[in-house]
Amino acid sequence: MTFNELQLSEPILRALKEKKYTTPTPIQSKAIPIALDGRDILGIAQTGTGKTAAFAIPIIEHLGKQKNIKGIKALILTPTRELAIQINDTFTDYGKHSRLKHTVIFGGVNQNPQIRSLNRGVDILIATPGRLLDFISQKIISLDSLTHFVLDEADRMLDMGFIHDIKRLLPLLPKKRQTMLFSATMPNEIANIIKTILYKPQRVEVAPASSVVDSIEQHIYFVEKPQKIELLINVLREQKEKTTIIFSRTKHGADKIARTLNNRKIRCEAIHGNKSQNARQNALQNLKSGKSRIIVATDIAARGIDIKDLGVVINYDLPDVAETYVHRIGRTGRAGNSGIAYTFCSQDEHMIVKSIQKLTNKRLNTVLVPA
Ligand code: AMP
Repeated sequence: MTFNELQLSEPILRALKEKKYTTPTPIQSKAIPIALDGRDILGIAQTGTGKTAAFAIPIIEHLGKQKNIKGIKALILTPTRELAIQINDTFTDYGKHSRLKHTVIFGGVNQNPQIRSLNRGVDILIATPGRLLDFISQKIISLDSLTHFVLDEADRMLDMGFIHDIKRLLPLLPKKRQTMLFSATMPNEIANIIKTILYKPQRVEVAPASSVVDSIEQHIYFVEKPQKIELLINVLREQKEKTTIIFSRTKHGADKIARTLNNRKIRCEAIHGNKSQNARQNALQNLKSGKSRIIVATDIAARGIDIKDLGVVINYDLPDVAETYVHRIGRTGRAGNSGIAYTFCSQDEHMIVKSIQKLTNKRLNTVLVPA
């Protein structure tokens, strides 16, 4: 299928062409026709599947056709500032040939620039829950003219304790609207929310990742925990130029690795849930601009960040489930580029390696630890 077959309007097709996207991803080819039809969507999809465009494109199409109605017509609610900024960028990309205005609001920063941009008039608002409710209670924002509502990363919203905020927000939304909810997993609590916010939803699902592209070299070192840090330093010194992400199972572990590397003059930054939004944003910015090339992250913090040209993924600790391994290493080897994944496996982590090999139907290439 091509984007042309989805019968999109010229401004969107032009924007897609400029991004050199010709083929919709599976979630896009499933969700876009349903959303264009005006129906509610329950999307089971992770970040990295192209789900942002799956809801952004139909929203731009619909709002582009509406007559000049003032006020916020689409609200995208997402759990973190990083995701909010990425979604905002997606609207910038796909909406650049339409006249729609969009902006992003999130907490932890001065509210005045955000208020100024809201006052200039906004059709599409991307928000994190706290700042949104704050602005609503200050009467800076009204949602009375809303026609489209997206709840993004619903499971993560719950993990981050946003359930009460969402429950406070729901009664403030007009009843007649189109709603799309996206979640990577479907815990019971989400099932309850679905019943209250979606009307006869169409379920759109993309299979959890199990395949690893051939352009990623996968190496494994069998190494005991106390030796992992020296091995890491060796590997990083060999891969000098490549942008690298190191996965740690815990926040504390990520900090410890980052501290040791910095002490050994290997510049890196850690990102995890205990870091302030600002610190996380700076770390990402430094990586994107090339100021730093190494980041140490936990799975939760890394979810949803989109770093292009990642050359190396290092699994300092193995994840608990094999699918997470596939997601981690899928951050390299994108768009035809080659990538390398190194996995450091200690005695107690052998079982998970077996299930990774079973899931991906590939053997990891064993490398001997340098003496
Ligand atoms: P998302 O899951 O929305 O965060 O998207 C993941 C990545 O896929 C982003 O870097 C997008 O720019 C990219 N992407 C989205 N749709 C397409 C497409 N149809 N073709 C190629 N890349 C895409």
